[in-house]
Amino acid sequence: MFSKLSCILSCAGPALTRKVHSVTRPASSAASKLMLERLLTSEEVYAREEKYGAHNYHPLPVALERAEGLYVWDVEGRRYYDFLSAYSAVNQGHCHPKIIAALNAQASRLTLTSRAFYNDVLGAYEEYITTMFGYDKVLPMNTGVEGGETACKLARKWAYTVKGVPKNQAKIIFANGNFWGRTMAAISSSTDPSSYEGFGPFMPGFEIIPYNSIPALENALQDTNVAAFMVEPIQGEAGVVVPDPGYLTKVRELCTKHNVLFIADEVQTGLARTGRRLAVDHEAVRPDLVVLGKALSGGVYPVSAVLCDDEVMLTIKPGEHGSTYGGNPLACRVAIAALEVLEEEKLAENAERMGQLLRSELNKLPKDIVTAVRGKGLLNAIVIKETKDYDAWRVCMHLRDNGLLAKPTHGDIIRLAPPLIIKEHEVRECVDIIQKTILSF
Ligand code: PLP
Repeated sequence: MFSKLSCILSCAGPALTRKVHSVTRPASSAASKLMLERLLTSEEVYAREEKYGAHNYHPLPVALERAEGLYVWDVEGRRYYDFLSAYSAVNQGHCHPKIIAALNAQASRLTLTSRAFYNDVLGAYEEYITTMFGYDKVLPMNTGVEGGETACKLARKWAYTVKGVPKNQAKIIFANGNFWGRTMAAISSSTDPSSYEGFGPFMPGFEIIPYNSIPALENALQDTNVAAFMVEPIQGEAGVVVPDPGYLTKVRELCTKHNVLFIADEVQTGLARTGRRLAVDHEAVRPDLVVLGKALSGGVYPVSAVLCDDEVMLTIKPGEHGSTYGGNPLACRVAIAALEVLEEEKLAENAERMGQLLRSELNKLPKDIVTAVRGKGLLNAIVIKETKDYDAWRVCMHLRDNGLLAKPTHGDIIRLAPPLIIKEHEVRECVDIIQKTILSF
């Protein structure tokens, strides 16, 4: 700590006092009360994370320090359009004033009671979200993956107590290319070696079928021990893979026919991202369970939820599932505000219109570099033809240099998912940046 501090002191010049990155001496120091503030450069930000943090991410090199609406700023004061939106958590735009006001108001009043006691906000949130989405009940959790775990537990419990599956025989079906997080259960259903390799043994009772294949689903559902099929309406992390029209309708029909629960993982696709409140609304299907996360707080707090009806939800009894933070008053107040913003600002409608504009403009890019444009609403991706001169990572580096942040996935795919508050002239400005970048290759 001391050697780091002296390094920081020696490299901090008078010109570097614009912003506040504070370092305190250890309590034993004579100067323990002294707060030393100075600017870190982007390079210093990278180096510090590299040294003290686990190496489980490979971020694009840009060091952000503040954000508002569509924009983020780095520590050198450069402004960027955010075309990732924290993997669709910031649908409402960064630091939305209504959501931040809700956070602040609740933060000084009551933040956490645990579920050992009642609090005066949880019920209001439960009533609001279940009415909005038309389900009997909600089970509040924190992260998206906990929402997925909760859905799987509910499905297993329902299979044993309602469907009559013999003890410990329940199966859950997943689709190839799915992504629902990093816990042992989530990686046990993953087909991506970078998610599961080296972490076995895996969760039993999970089966994987091809995505977007109705015959494969029909075949898998012949097994009477199947409790549920858990699927993303559009596969986000797989690279914005959009299934054929009618797929979700068929999934619904087959699940009903075989008495199997249809779990829609809407953690990334839900909450207006694809141009509807939920992505399943494009086909007007009603899943038995819906998992929400990410934008449920507009990016200010980890909030997730599982929605379903009593037949499924009430299979879990007191003491059988929970979370210290799940359903805390701060999360509930923030989530109500985040959901209200989606409705008040008609963000689904805007995502639908701006998404159509974005894709029609992106489709004009040279096909020898951008081989495909796909998506719904403002969850979109372009596929870059890899050559020795460029790949998706290098395109993203150039986009960054031109003022737009996006993240590559799978080597050749770039997801384009701005906050849903984006306006037409901003879409056009961003398309210009993307076009200029692509044409520079
Ligand atoms: N489900 C989907 C579809 C996701 O895209 C993600 C994260 O990207 C998750 C679940 C997991 O969410 P979290 O990272 O909040 O656990």
